[in-house]
Amino acid sequence: MSMNPQLQFEQEQFLKILPREDALARFQAALFPRALRSEARKLADALGAALAEDVTAPVDVPPFDRSNVDGFAVRSADLAAAGESASVRLALNGETIHCGTVPALQVAPGTATPIATGGPLPRGADAVVMVEHTQPAGSDGIDVRRAASPGQFVSYAGSDIARGEALLRAGTIIGSREIGMLAACGLAEVTVARKPRVAVISTGDELIQPGQPLPPAAIYDTNGAIVAAAIDENGGEATFLGAIPDDEAKLESAMRRALTDADMLVLSGGTSKGAGDLSHRIIGRLGKPGIIAHGVALKPGKPLCLAVCDGKPVVILPGFPTSAMFTFHDMIVPVLRKMAGLPSRTDAKVSATVPVRIASELGRTEFVMVSLVEGKDGLIAYPSGKGSGAITSFAQADGFLRIDALADQMPAGTEAEVTLFTPHVRVPDLVIVGSHCTGLDLVTAPLAHAGLIVRSIAVGSLGGLAAARRGECDLAPIHLFDDKSETYNTPFLVEGLELVPGWCRMQGIVFRKGDKRFEGLSAKEAVAAALTDSACIMVNRNQGAGTRILIDRLLGGARPEGYWNQPRSHNAVAAAVAQHRADWGMSIAPVAHASGLGFTPLAEEHYDFALVTARKQRPAVQAFLDALGSDQARAALERAGFRPA
Ligand code: AMP
Ligand code: MG
Repeated sequence: MSMNPQLQFEQEQFLKILPREDALARFQAALFPRALRSEARKLADALGAALAEDVTAPVDVPPFDRSNVDGFAVRSADLAAAGESASVRLALNGETIHCGTVPALQVAPGTATPIATGGPLPRGADAVVMVEHTQPAGSDGIDVRRAASPGQFVSYAGSDIARGEALLRAGTIIGSREIGMLAACGLAEVTVARKPRVAVISTGDELIQPGQPLPPAAIYDTNGAIVAAAIDENGGEATFLGAIPDDEAKLESAMRRALTDADMLVLSGGTSKGAGDLSHRIIGRLGKPGIIAHGVALKPGKPLCLAVCDGKPVVILPGFPTSAMFTFHDMIVPVLRKMAGLPSRTDAKVSATVPVRIASELGRTEFVMVSLVEGKDGLIAYPSGKGSGAITSFAQADGFLRIDALADQMPAGTEAEVTLFTPHVRVPDLVIVGSHCTGLDLVTAPLAHAGLIVRSIAVGSLGGLAAARRGECDLAPIHLFDDKSETYNTPFLVEGLELVPGWCRMQGIVFRKGDKRFEGLSAKEAVAAALTDSACIMVNRNQGAGTRILIDRLLGGARPEGYWNQPRSHNAVAAAVAQHRADWGMSIAPVAHASGLGFTPLAEEHYDFALVTARKQRPAVQAFLDALGSDQARAALERAGFRPA
């Protein structure tokens, strides 16, 4: 039996990863050209809408020749001989032209008519003289001591806007100035593009809506909110239909319902080939031509699925929020804006040097988020260290750079083009690169409140020291233990750097409160007992962490169950113990307390700052040093469980 051609088409698409440009071109070709949906809007409701068609001025503005000043409408030829020493006398006509007055009398030679600003010029007159440049001469005359050129102080009909002139172009976003122009022409209504209605669906059994308590193994639905907001930002009208579990029948009925009303459907999650990944199978049944591209050579974002069902775009974004947003902005926004009658987006771009080598996958266009800081010779773009699953990397970055599909890396020192997330570069006042600690936020809070932009880039202690040596930051927070001298941090300083003492963090054993195997014992006793109990599972730390050195000393060469579980942060250790994936681990007191865990202190770790001496006098650095030494910061650090130096 031969294969159903539709099915065969789908499978071929599914297996073929398309280059970004091809996928976008095919998607656009399946959707455009199409008629723009438009609607009439009252001027008062038109703010923010996009004009659907060009607007031609139906009248002249001003509609008549108009005086720009308070004075007298005259015939300029009468004043040809006027001057300081030779005044010319004009007889006043028997009317005064106010705003809204239709002139009745002609300005005959040797006469003038009083006229107010905005009054229509009477027949016979060709100029206006200012009242300040005249002198009354009896009750019905004036003396003029200045010549007037033809057209003086007159705005001619149509000089602002000429009837028949293109007033505004299709695609213009209507702001207050555009509303002003439309009102000046007497237009009470405009034809605007109808915003495309976009249905948004999240998929996944694990998703919980914000505001609800989080059950074990569940995560909050991030994509629903961020995709809906990004749709509204780009001219669409999003309707979020919730998170649908990975159930084929439920998902299909939700997708069908969404498509009855919406002009476009955007889903997220479930695009890879896992067992629960259903959306792309359903799309084949929703309308022709179906899937256009499934798999695009993008990073992040490879599993993107683009489809058109009976003329409506249907898109499945990757599940990871950052991947979802990159693919949305890169591939969906151009289509959405076109459907919304908007011009394509112009992103602000800057040029910046990349200080470190960035590895890249050959064959995929790669987007790398960066934070910008000011270096010695221009901007420096730090790649964000977090993976595509990280939402904060998106919020904290200034923009992103693109690595071509044909490149396998971007070498250190490359001058790269950075696309900004906001229209302007926000160069931070204070740059902190190194190890992150929640205590740092307590110290920098007053700086942020005073309007200083503080950028803290978490790259670990060693990465921070390297950045400080290159002069790319003001301060590098470090907590490095030197085995030889058995001291913290000082042995790691090099010329040009000086140590600013920060605070101490008590490290110790974390366990669930009430666990009799640990409660009441010293750290050494507890770990010794745990080593004899094969049911007791530990959680370790990554190689290179200061905490790891302490753990290895405590274990004295033992490799208990859980030793190879080596997360990279204090919080991950606490989460593993709180969630019963491990029974004990080593973390710091503030994290243990915040997680509601039991804590047995072992040793203090010093978290200090390597200060770049050459940058010490900068106002923001001084503000930081003041804040660090302040009573408020010390009190806040103590409340959080730290011990200020
Ligand atoms: P999936 O493509 O469904 O396998 O999802 C890939 C990853 O993204 C998984 O870790 C999902 O939990 C996560 N994910 C999927 N949808 C969302 C969402 N709406 N919000 C946050 N994370 C999500
Ligand atoms: Mg899923």
